[in-house]
Amino acid sequence: MADPATDPADALRAIASDISTCTACRLSEGRTRAVPGEGASDADVMFIGEGPGYYEDQQGRPFVGAAGKLLDELLASIGWDRKDVYITNTVKCRPPNNRDPRDDELDLCESLYLRRQLEIINPTLLVTLGRFSLTRLFPRQSISRARGQLLYKDGLAVYPIYHPAAALHQQQWREIIVQDFKNLPAALEQARLRAAGAHDDHPPGPGAQEPASQTEGQSGCGEQLNLL
Ligand code: SF4
Repeated sequence: MADPATDPADALRAIASDISTCTACRLSEGRTRAVPGEGASDADVMFIGEGPGYYEDQQGRPFVGAAGKLLDELLASIGWDRKDVYITNTVKCRPPNNRDPRDDELDLCESLYLRRQLEIINPTLLVTLGRFSLTRLFPRQSISRARGQLLYKDGLAVYPIYHPAAALHQQQWREIIVQDFKNLPAALEQARLRAAGAHDDHPPGPGAQEPASQTEGQSGCGEQLNLL
């Protein structure tokens, strides 16, 4: 097991090594390669998707298929690059036939790996991509209602966005995702200000629409926090 008392990049590499040989749940049986995640160990922003798809499973890297190409384009549209953020998934092994991850798989992979990755990276802003990572934090929240909102849970700033794969099938969702990415820098700035103890009524940058902000109480999401 990884020794957490090491350099953050080393600690993440050690976790990745643990993941690569993990057989803790049934998803290990059908995988080609596990997909631990990648990016900066000191990233301000951490993206959490659902689970690896075909190309991710083949390459052992997150978001490398068509949805990943779109994610790169969306990051580039706001002047960001994937090497500056951290990208991972709720489960690290591909579910067979791209089925949804099951609750026991999500619980196990989170407790073994995702929680440790979050603790090491300690991002200012967590971006959930799709409903699975959102509902780990807010079990009763719907993605259609929460997307584009800056939510807070036990001090963690969370900005939900539809999964990029949704945009590959529905043009209307693509437009929403593009807009939510456009507002991402403003959401990060708000999260930074709140983390620094400032009020969260700071105006967004030029051309950016300030995202709506909800506290846990306002959003009615007083559920148990799973991720931390
Ligand atoms: S999905 Fe997570 S818990 Fe399950 S085998 Fe893969 S790494 Fe282990």
